[in-house]
Amino acid sequence: MRDPGPAFRRIPAIDELLKTPLAIEAIDRFGRPALLEALRRSVEDVRGAASEQMAVPNADAIVASAIASLERSSQPKVRPVFNLTGTVLHTNLGRAQIAEAAVEAATAAMRDALALEFNLDTGKRGERDDLVRDLLCELTGAEDATVVNNNAGAVLLALNTLGRGKEAVISRGELIEIGGAFRMPDIMARAGTKLVEVGTTNRTHEKDYAAALGPKTGLVLKVHTSNYRVEGFTKSVSGKALADITRAQNVPLLNDLGSGTLVDLARYGLSHEQTVREAVAEGADLVTFSGDKLLGGPQAGFIVGRCDLIARLNKNPMKRALRVDKVRLAAIEATLQLYRDPDRLAERLPTIRLLARKRDEIAAQAARLLPALSAAVGSGYVATVVDCASQIGSGALPQETLPSAGIAIRAAGARASGRALIALAAALRSLDKPVIGHIAEHALVLDLRCLEDDAGFVRNLAGLGLAERA
Ligand SMILES: *Cc1c(COP(=O)(O)O)cnc(C)c1O
Repeated sequence: MRDPGPAFRRIPAIDELLKTPLAIEAIDRFGRPALLEALRRSVEDVRGAASEQMAVPNADAIVASAIASLERSSQPKVRPVFNLTGTVLHTNLGRAQIAEAAVEAATAAMRDALALEFNLDTGKRGERDDLVRDLLCELTGAEDATVVNNNAGAVLLALNTLGRGKEAVISRGELIEIGGAFRMPDIMARAGTKLVEVGTTNRTHEKDYAAALGPKTGLVLKVHTSNYRVEGFTKSVSGKALADITRAQNVPLLNDLGSGTLVDLARYGLSHEQTVREAVAEGADLVTFSGDKLLGGPQAGFIVGRCDLIARLNKNPMKRALRVDKVRLAAIEATLQLYRDPDRLAERLPTIRLLARKRDEIAAQAARLLPALSAAVGSGYVATVVDCASQIGSGALPQETLPSAGIAIRAAGARASGRALIALAAALRSLDKPVIGHIAEHALVLDLRCLEDDAGFVRNLAGLGLAERA
């Protein structure tokens, strides 16, 4: 074997590294196998570098680099951030923030055994849906209800149960893509149902549906066009008119509301969005909606409606594959309970609370925080209070923006301002609690609608380190 050279011979052996006080302390923190693996990698790195340069780091330096790499890799990947994007229900930032009552319920459900599928009255086996069925029926006026993993799952389960090997009739104007590869035609194909499109992109009439219904029809699907709107020469058939048509033919009508709200949002200064109760009342046989959009709970998909149809869904083996776990069920129950007291909902449910915040209040908050932020970004940047237009997000009320306020940060020098903004955005993302804004018109904009912890925000800025560099 070729002599590896003097540099290699001076690299300490792993056994030797493990005996250093630094390593002994690190074994306590990370465990021996993890440290061993990290040390091996550090030694390999040193060996790689040693062929080019003669100086070899000493034992402590090698151990320190292994520890640094362990520290990096043991940072949680699931991390809270400040969502200052201006989009309240941001799918990429985890959608709804959960109410405190739901957090507590979920935590308790994780710690202890619980009566998940166990009827405490009879001592016999129960059903997990029973934990939230009565609440869902009370809040929506539906006969029966079931819960699955998310609304995509709810739609899939309903289509597969009612439409497998049959036709599903839907307006061309409602064949939507929601994002994350949720395309109505694809879901229908996977559910084993044959898509029958009626009408045109902009106009669908009652007679179009009537002509499409026949012995092969499994269901009619109405989909809330969550994330876009067709304007101009348009016509769609109301849920009520559609229910009259499907009822006369004895065909089930499934209304996928998407976001789905349990309260009249006009109460909180937003536009009225059809509630689940209204969709049930106008005659939909089944209504599907999300748990973590406007409803403000954990990820879930709800299906409410006719007893006989819910019973069929529950017998579908797919239901078992889509069921929700105890932790989320606990959070769902606690969230739904909050809806029984609409007067205090805005206080208790973060989603509604954040959506209901008024521009003036947010502008005052921005003015209060401006000095701290200006100081933290340093002389290389200029921060000002600006008006913002927040969005609800998750496809709910896509046309509607909410007057809001925030802080815009621009590079002080005109030159290389693009690069300076990218550096600033990166620095904010690298904070202990990353701050996520958006870049618009040569500024990094932080919409403060979703900021409720001012003190925590300011404390967190101490880690920014831009002020010294500038
Ligand atoms: C968001 C949405 C879905 C999917 O709901 P998830 O809970 O995200 O799975 C389905 N249909 C419509 C109309 C939607 O807006």
